[in-house]
Amino acid sequence: MWTRRRFIQTMTSLGSLFSAGWAVGRTSRSRPTDAVRFPDRPWRYEGPPRGPVAVASFNGLQAVQEAYERMKAGQSALEAVLAGVQINELDPNDNTVGYGGLPNALGVVELDAAVMDGRTWRAGAVGALQGIKTPSAVARVIMERTDHIFLVGEGARRFALEYGFSNEDLLTPESRQRWLEWRDRLNPRDNYLEPEQRDVLIDYPDGTIHVSALDLRGHLAAVTSTSGLPFKIPGRVGDSPIIGAGLYCDDDVGSAGSTGRGEANIKICGAHTIVEMMRWGMHPQDACIEALRRVVSTTKEKRLLDDQGRPRFQLKFYALRKDGVFGCSALWGTQDARMAVCDDRGPRFVDCAFLYVAERK
Ligand code: ASP
Repeated sequence: MWTRRRFIQTMTSLGSLFSAGWAVGRTSRSRPTDAVRFPDRPWRYEGPPRGPVAVASFNGLQAVQEAYERMKAGQSALEAVLAGVQINELDPNDNTVGYGGLPNALGVVELDAAVMDGRTWRAGAVGALQGIKTPSAVARVIMERTDHIFLVGEGARRFALEYGFSNEDLLTPESRQRWLEWRDRLNPRDNYLEPEQRDVLIDYPDGTIHVSALDLRGHLAAVTSTSGLPFKIPGRVGDSPIIGAGLYCDDDVGSAGSTGRGEANIKICGAHTIVEMMRWGMHPQDACIEALRRVVSTTKEKRLLDDQGRPRFQLKFYALRKDGVFGCSALWGTQDARMAVCDDRGPRFVDCAFLYVAERK
């Protein structure tokens, strides 16, 4: 029943809402800030398709070349990014991705991957997947053959086997050796948050592959694949397979992805944040740097900061806009702070903008 009393209560709360909104508006008008000014309409590229272009993390030079050639031959950005990433997933010498990836604390390789199709806004992802060399291909089947987006652990493995993927041992002799050495150094008193143990940071060779691509028809796709943090707690899933963190792709605007410390990226939903910043007019490079600034401002734990208050880990972002313009950023300007690119100028590395100069490495 709409009683008089309820009517008055409702009107009073609506009234205070309106006046609060008006007050906020008035305050921001009378006190100019240096906040980003949004254009009236979202950024939109109206010109002819600018593809093919493929960009990737620094371990993806072959991947971008493969992706570019496939797109040049008429394949979609989706086909192209998946074909590119599979090179690293099947490479036993890339110990940060797929087969040959470094295992978890128990010596078992657990893989995370996700794919997103900008044309349909559909996505698929797997987390903590064991026994399958090509997690990005499983993510694709989830995207195309199910009503779900994210499968993890044993469910993801069973699903992959049902779709014909074979169960294999993903631990190479080299990865096993690295795991044995790591285990030898463990101390029975070790605690997961012991600072000495968390000294991954800028000496830690960050791996993981991210590839974003823009095809001849102007469509975008993205994929990220990783074996995650080496010697992680079994079951740990990083940012790579999280849609909006490890990758995000929107055919209206662009595509973005990340590599590096997933825990820092998840908190700011990096890839989605970058795509949104591009949507409101930011250059891909600026958007990548701005996302890193957000990472810095959301990292408060002392154990993660050096004596100058800078994050002691590496994190990188990559972005490709709908008009073919790209950019990348790294927290630390290490040797690997580069992005692999392939367009009509051929495969090459492009330096990332960075926030801090690395004194060691
Ligand atoms: N982002 C990955 C994760 O946190 C790791 C990496 O890129 O090195 O799982």
